[in-house]
Amino acid sequence: MALIVQKYGGTSVGTVERIQAVAQRVKQTVEAGNSVVVVVSAMGKTTDGLVKLAHDISANPNRREMDMLLSTGEQVTIALLSMALQEAGQPAVSLTGAQVGIITETHHTRARILNVATDRMKRHLQNGEVLVVAGFQGISNAQDLEITTLGRGGSDTSAVALAAALKADFCEIYTDVPGILTADPRLVEDARLMTEITCDEMLELASLGAKVLHPRAVEIARNYGVPLVVRSSWTTDPGTWVTSPQPQTRSLEGLEIARPVDAVEFDTDQAKVALLRVPDRPGVAAKLFGEIASQRLDVDLIIQSIHEGNSNDIAFTVIKNSLTRAEAVSSAIIPALMAGHAPSSEAAPDVMIEQKIAKVTIAGAGMIGRPGVAAKMFSTLADAGINIQMISTSEVKVSCVIDQVDCDRAIAVLCNAFDIHESGYRIPEATLPDVTETPVRGVALDLKQARVAVRHVPDRPGMAAKIFQRLAEHNISVDMIIQSQRCRVVNGTMTRDIAFTVAQMDGEAARTTLESVAAEFGCGEVVVDSAIAKVSIVGSNMVGQPGVAARMFDALFKKGINIQMIATSEIKVSCVVAEDQGIVALQTIHAAFELSGSHKVQVSA
Ligand code: ADP
Ligand code: ASP
Ligand code: MG
Repeated sequence: MALIVQKYGGTSVGTVERIQAVAQRVKQTVEAGNSVVVVVSAMGKTTDGLVKLAHDISANPNRREMDMLLSTGEQVTIALLSMALQEAGQPAVSLTGAQVGIITETHHTRARILNVATDRMKRHLQNGEVLVVAGFQGISNAQDLEITTLGRGGSDTSAVALAAALKADFCEIYTDVPGILTADPRLVEDARLMTEITCDEMLELASLGAKVLHPRAVEIARNYGVPLVVRSSWTTDPGTWVTSPQPQTRSLEGLEIARPVDAVEFDTDQAKVALLRVPDRPGVAAKLFGEIASQRLDVDLIIQSIHEGNSNDIAFTVIKNSLTRAEAVSSAIIPALMAGHAPSSEAAPDVMIEQKIAKVTIAGAGMIGRPGVAAKMFSTLADAGINIQMISTSEVKVSCVIDQVDCDRAIAVLCNAFDIHESGYRIPEATLPDVTETPVRGVALDLKQARVAVRHVPDRPGMAAKIFQRLAEHNISVDMIIQSQRCRVVNGTMTRDIAFTVAQMDGEAARTTLESVAAEFGCGEVVVDSAIAKVSIVGSNMVGQPGVAARMFDALFKKGINIQMIATSEIKVSCVVAEDQGIVALQTIHAAFELSGSHKVQVSA
C-alpha cells in the first residue's frame, strides 16, 4: 500500500462536474489500496477574480488582507471536494493549511514553509479517511497565527511539502496538459511530451517561464528526494516524472529556508575571451559562435552586455588549451562583423584575453526568490578584496569569474560563509555528455521581465555586492547579471556598466532603490526597460556539446531578431530580445532544435 499526495490545479476543479470527476479518481486510488492526501487549488480562475476585487478597492492592497482574501479560494474547493467524496461513499475530511499545521514565515503573499506538522494528518489517514488540504496557504509561526499564502501558483509547493513531511511514496500534480512539454503548448502547438526530466532542468524551465510547476515545489522535491509526476486530470496517461538525485537526509525544520547552498565548486581550467565594441545588430553572436563551434571549441559561459551607443561587448570562457584558437577565430572574424557597418566615432572593435582566471560557484536548490543568497556570495568575495569579472546565475548555481590567484582564498571564505564542510566542496565532475540525447530538453519564454542597467559603476571590489545587497534587502530577485567588459573613465574613475533582469513588477522598485544609492555608490544613471522578453533553452546535456548556443543565435538571426543580452549557465542559454518578438523567438528556437512532436497537444482548459 502506498501513500500518495495528489494535487489538483484550478482547471481540474473548475466546476462541480470536474470536482466530481476528481472525487472519482481519488476514490479509485483508495480502492486500489492506497492512502491519499489531496491538495487542491481554488476553482478555475477564482484567485484572479479575488485579486481583481482587491485592486478595484485599492491600488496597493495591504498584504495581510490580501492573504486573508486569497486564502478563501482554496477553502471553497476543499469543502466541496470533501462533500463529493462523501457522496461517493468515501470518508473524507477537509483541512485548511492552519488546521494541518503548515507553518510558514510571516512574509505575507510570499511566505516560505518552515515546517509541516504530521500528527493530525496521520490520525485521519489511520481512520481510513482521505485528507483534502487547502493548497497555497499556511499559518505563521508568530504569536498571532497569521494566515499566509505562498505566492501565486503555490499549491504545487504545498503538495510537495506535504509529501516530503509524510514521506509519501510519490506526489502527483494533476493539471490541464498531459505533462511537461518541450514548450508551453499554448504558444507552441506541436510541443512534445517528455517522459522524464531532471529536477535541475525543471527548476530552470519553471523559473524561466514554464509555469506548469511552481519552481519552489521542484526545489523541495530535489532537496527531500520526493518522486514527482505531472499528469493530466482528464486522462490516465502516465505523464512526466521529475527525477532527483539521491538526497542527504534533511530535517523538516526550516523546510524551505534551511541550507540554500550545499556545495562550493571551482574550475581553474578556463580562460576568457572578450570582444569589445562589436556592432549591435542581428547575426553577430551567431557568426562568432558559429565559427567557434565549427572549430569544435567548447564554450562555457557566454555573456553579452548592452551599451550606450550602438555597440556590444561579448565575453566567453573556453578551456585553457583552446584559448589560442578561440582568440584567433575571434580576431579573424572582426572584419566580417564590421562589413557594411557605418563607421562610428567609437574606437574600433578589439579582442581581449585573460589567461589566469578561475570560476567559483555556489550550488544548491533553495536560491529561488532569495536574492540574499547571491548577494551574500558577492559581499563575501568583496570583503576578502576579490574583484568579480563575470557573473553567471542559474536557479541552482551562482558562478563568479575571478582572478586565479584569488581562487583558494575565495573557496575558503565561501565555505566559511555558507557553512560548507569538506564533503560539500568539490571540483565538478567532468560529465561526459550523452551525445545520443538532444542537448536541449525544453524552451521557455518569460514576457514579464524588465531589464535594469546601472551606468558607470566604479570598477572595484564590492560594487556588485553593494548593488545586489540593496536589492536583496527589498526582496528583489535578479537574473542574468552582466557586467560590461570594457572600462570607461568617468571623472577620473574607472567604471563599468552592470545590467540585469528582474520581474517586471519589481522594475520600478529596482529603479527607486538604486537611484536612491547611486550617488553614494558613485554610480551613474539607472535605466529600466520593460519591453523585453527572455527566451531560454534548457538541457543538462549541453555541457561539452559545442555549437548549441550558436544554433540558438543563428535561429534568431535568420528571423532577423536582435539579441540584446546573452547569459548562460551550464544547463541554459538565455537571450533578451524585444518583447514583441518574444513568441516568434520561442517558436523559432523550438523548431531549430527539432523539438516538435508528431501531433498537436491537447490543452483541456
Ligand atoms: P494548474 O491550474 O493545474 O496549476 P497552471 O496553469 O498553473 O495549471 O499550469 C499548467 C499550464 O502550464 C498549462 O496549461 C500550460 O499552458 C503551461 N505551461 C507552460 N510551459 C509548459 C510546459 N513546458 N509544459 C507544459 N505546460 C506548460
Ligand atoms: N490559487 C492559487 C493561484 O491561483 C494557487 C495555485 O493555484 O497554485 O495562484
Ligand atoms: Mg499551477
